[in-house]
Amino acid sequence: MARIYDAEYDVVVIGGGGSGKSAAYTAAKEGGLKVALLEKMPETGGSSVYAEGTAAFESSEQKARKVPEHAGAHFPTKEEGFRRYREYSHHRANPDVARMQVENTAETIDILKSLGIVYTDVTIYAYDQPLELYTFHRPDGLGERVQEVLLRACVNAGVDIFTSTPAKKLLTEDRKVVGVLAQDSKGFDMKIKAKAVIIASGGYGNNPDMVEKYSWLRRSAHHTYQCVPTQNTGDGLRMALEAGADTESCQAVMIIACARGKTLTSHSSGAGSQPVLWINKTGRRFASEEVAMSFADTGNTLAKQPEGVVYAIIDADTVKHLIENGSDIGLGDFIQFHQKLTNLQLELDQDVADGIAWTGGTIEELARNMGLDPAIVAATVAKYNAACEKGFDPEYYKPAKFLRPVKKAPFYAVNMAPSVLVSDGGIRVNGNLQVVDFNYEPIPGLYAVGNEASGLFGDTYNLDVPGTANGFAHTSGRVAARHAVKMIKG
Ligand SMILES: Cc1cc2nc3c(=O)[nH]c(=O)nc-3n(C[C@H](O)[C@H](O)[C@H](O)COP(=O)(O)OP(=O)(O)OC[C@H]3O[C@@H](n4cnc5c(N)ncnc54)[C@H](O)[C@@H]3O)c2cc1C
Repeated sequence: MARIYDAEYDVVVIGGGGSGKSAAYTAAKEGGLKVALLEKMPETGGSSVYAEGTAAFESSEQKARKVPEHAGAHFPTKEEGFRRYREYSHHRANPDVARMQVENTAETIDILKSLGIVYTDVTIYAYDQPLELYTFHRPDGLGERVQEVLLRACVNAGVDIFTSTPAKKLLTEDRKVVGVLAQDSKGFDMKIKAKAVIIASGGYGNNPDMVEKYSWLRRSAHHTYQCVPTQNTGDGLRMALEAGADTESCQAVMIIACARGKTLTSHSSGAGSQPVLWINKTGRRFASEEVAMSFADTGNTLAKQPEGVVYAIIDADTVKHLIENGSDIGLGDFIQFHQKLTNLQLELDQDVADGIAWTGGTIEELARNMGLDPAIVAATVAKYNAACEKGFDPEYYKPAKFLRPVKKAPFYAVNMAPSVLVSDGGIRVNGNLQVVDFNYEPIPGLYAVGNEASGLFGDTYNLDVPGTANGFAHTSGRVAARHAVKMIKG
């Protein structure tokens, strides 16, 4: 029996973040197609709203600047980018996807510029991180402005945008995807016929059960802290699997350290993210805190601790240092390099009052207030202070410049957590972003882009190429849409 549809479009895009809006805009504006964009939240934007920088290679912005601001640094070529994706992932990145990224990101920057975005900087994410390539294009107004501009571009291009309308299921005939079953904003089923469907629903990072199932975070998946209110719950991966898709390198998740109950711009969270003394719930140190220079590596390190519990221990001198001299490492725009953490004391006092941080006049008192064994914590701090005094850390070889002792009362403990920002892939795609099955054969009519598409990562988000996820989101959306236009127009 013929299926009855509520609406008919050339292209249906699932998800209204950076990848989805880029896809919808391209299909409507360049392809002249009839496009619907389904967004499950009341507003579009997704995690892309929080993104600060966008990776690109050999862009007009890099060419205009000739060299980065830091002495001796250079802007990477496409080939260097391609190699870094392959090598960082231990060759688990898909070369066709990596090539798609390095070849097309420069155009992404030009398109966003043509829509009104101004780039203030092409830099790295964290100064002091020796491995980063200078790919981080920082837009004026950051991700929020980019998403606002793209939304307007979609509206102007005639895209029909349905908010509070989650996609539930892909409609298939034989192996071919022919539409989407969604739930409209009043809760009614909505069957939409489409010649192509582009999954752009942001991955599974906000679904702890899927994080447990698909990422390497098995033990700590349910102990993570969600520091932004996104709802990327893996709907795209689930729907693609039902339609016969294969997966690839599902386990990469982007994890950042954030104080539980706080935001990434909070100064107490910023203090805890510095390379200060970190202990886990056993009261012992567990890593060289210099790993703080890469938020992705820090996320991995924190996520490996029992129940994902980590405390940053700081004393009155460090509080003063962070307020007066500023941060020792940067966390993008959330906490800038050398930014003075002027609210730190105020926040610490409030956090202690709220029971999400602790203080003590002695280390033993601090430990008791935290519910940890005072003797173990005191021994940990004594050993760490001895290393600070010598300027050499025999346990974890933390560089001397980060060896800041914990000596002057009052002492504070900030409750740091691994916070999964997003997942980085899951659905196997080819270089055209077509979803493929177990035999690597494209599933007709189906594409996956942005965080939903695999191909750039192994097990960890690649901060050596900062801005990769956002560059990939906008670029993969456009490349998928162009392919869909070609297929539809024959
Ligand atoms: C705090 C934070 C900071 C970040 N900073 C950076 C950065 O500086 N640089 C960088 O490269 N990356 C950064 N990222 C990663 C960011 O996720 C990517 O950059 C990228 O923008 C993701 O785009 P996307 O379109 O794949 O997903 P999103 O932008 O998350 O969009 C997915 C959309 O799909 C919607 N959706 C989900 N399920 C459904 C459904 N069933 N039906 C309809 N809609 C659905 C969601 O509500 C969401 O709007 C950051 C992420 C976070 C959380």
